Amino acid sequence: MNKQTQCVHSGTRPDLQTGGINTPIFTSSAFTYLGKEVNPYPRYFNTPNQEAVVAKLCALEEAEDGLLFSSGMAAVVTTILALVRSGEHVVVQDELYGGTHAMLTGLLSRFGIRSSFVGKSVQSFAAAIEEQTKLIYIETPTNPLLGIVDIREVTALARDKGIITVIDNTFASPINQTPRTLGVDVVVHSGTKYLGGHSDLCCGAALFGREHGDRMRHAAVNLGGSLNAEACGLLERSLKTLHLRVSKQTENAAAIAAFLVEHGAVSAVHYPGLASHPGHQVARRQMSGFGAMLSFELGEEAPATDVFLKRLKMIVPALSLGGVESTICDPARTSHAKMSAEERQRVGISDRLLRLSVGIEHPDDVTADLDQALCG
Ligand SMILES: *Cc1c(COP(=O)(O)O)cnc(C)c1O
Repeated sequence: MNKQTQCVHSGTRPDLQTGGINTPIFTSSAFTYLGKEVNPYPRYFNTPNQEAVVAKLCALEEAEDGLLFSSGMAAVVTTILALVRSGEHVVVQDELYGGTHAMLTGLLSRFGIRSSFVGKSVQSFAAAIEEQTKLIYIETPTNPLLGIVDIREVTALARDKGIITVIDNTFASPINQTPRTLGVDVVVHSGTKYLGGHSDLCCGAALFGREHGDRMRHAAVNLGGSLNAEACGLLERSLKTLHLRVSKQTENAAAIAAFLVEHGAVSAVHYPGLASHPGHQVARRQMSGFGAMLSFELGEEAPATDVFLKRLKMIVPALSLGGVESTICDPARTSHAKMSAEERQRVGISDRLLRLSVGIEHPDDVTADLDQALCG
């Protein structure tokens, strides 16, 4: 099946009692065990609503097994704790989601899991590998500069050395990138972003091959970050329009990037769909669309960052991303505020950088709002 069709149909468990065509929401936390081989329980990650959503996500990510979590961070921490033990070592990108960075340097380092933070090239991943390296963890496109990691190169390197690979596929969504077809072992998502898509859900997912099922489930059951039935139902409904939303958002982002490139008050645009983007060729090979996230730099003629954000009339200055509404933030003061100013400068995050999550509005309305805020 094509992804459009999987979004609508995969995993649905129609209501056999009434003929209703949707998966009913089963709110029970107790299920009878008589005459049953498996006993569903919400924290065992095996209730009908959890399994319906996992089946849809497995189809979309070409995975054999998966787990649904109460947040993206629950998916990330469960995955790492399932696959790595004390004394072992993880190689990760230095351009990483802030929460994941903080978890590795704080909580996990206290339990003896060491991490090395490296650049985006396969050479820098290779140079950081030690005897104890168990896992390589990547994110592409990156936040907030939309840098691209060559997924095939990294998975080839890891496979050679028997190292497990994990990718945070939140930014691309399964519509624009299917990492398991490029050799990645485990795909994690913050479902709070594109999968939910309406800025009203907090959830996460991990999708993987059968060989990791036991260890992943064991850690998940112990850590307990499961998703309740009502949220599963909302997520299942959201996923039916995932392809429709993300392909429109991606199309709109390309139009908005083209507008910003031409704008006199904008000094730089970071979008993998632009031929000038350093990761463009790799993105072309490994993504089916360039995504709906972009960032840009206010030029000399533009107002101060604060003034620009206050002038916006429709685009909402907000954290989070991936919703149907366009949202914007300045990473130096929000997502990357915990980084020191020198560190930000080193990775290229200036105080005049803005990160835009493109929604499903008409792109002309988004560019009109940007234009009036840029020009005053
Ligand atoms: C938001 C986000 C997370 C964390 O997800 P939560 O749902 O907030 O726990 C992880 N990775 C990326 C790339 C994100 O954008």
